Amino acid sequence: MIRRWQNILNTLPQSTQLIAVSKYTTNTNIQVLAQMGQVDFGESKPQNLRDRAQQFPNLHWHMIGPLQKNKAKYVGRFAYMWHSCCNIEAAEAVAKHVGTTPLPTLIQVNISGEPQKQGVLPSDLPLFLEEFSTIHKLELVGLMGMAAKGGDTRTSFKLLHQCRDDILRSHSKATALCMGMSNDWRIAVEEGATMIRVGSEIFGET
Ligand SMILES: *Cc1c(COP(=O)(O)O)cnc(C)c1O
Repeated sequence: MIRRWQNILNTLPQSTQLIAVSKYTTNTNIQVLAQMGQVDFGESKPQNLRDRAQQFPNLHWHMIGPLQKNKAKYVGRFAYMWHSCCNIEAAEAVAKHVGTTPLPTLIQVNISGEPQKQGVLPSDLPLFLEEFSTIHKLELVGLMGMAAKGGDTRTSFKLLHQCRDDILRSHSKATALCMGMSNDWRIAVEEGATMIRVGSEIFGET
């Protein structure tokens, strides 16, 4: 595990941050990587995010998965950053539980071209951002996206990059471009990712 983690870090440009997706792994492995200096971890289920944020309060816990409104409180209270915001009602529900400092939030964009997938469609982004901007406890810091399995990964990542550049003109803090997982993070880095989310390549498949 440590060697795989180090190999990824050695390959990453300085400008790209690694989020270690720990949903597949044990607390012991998290402890080991934390001791090696990994600070940013991702969880895809709100309850697991809460549990691990309570167990490891000194680490940064990134919420990367889909969210139902009734679990919003865990994200509002425990997330360091929310990557998967794509629904205004859920966003309002999360915001209610955020403390005094606004929660850094990425809008998840559907870049795969599959209508059933999570995320705001690129063409709906301007309207979504208008509504989002009324939620003062959430601070827009960028965009997140996932390529389709077997789809044209590079084209999807280029699309997200373009969306990020478009919104950056009116939202100067929205610099983050979070894309790339175990099977495609190298392409994501080539396409300008500022954050990648890697789980199984570090921790193994489960
Ligand atoms: C699980 C997960 C990842 C990590 O997936 P791997 O392919 O194991 O690296 C990244 N992003 C999201 C949203 C996930 O749910």
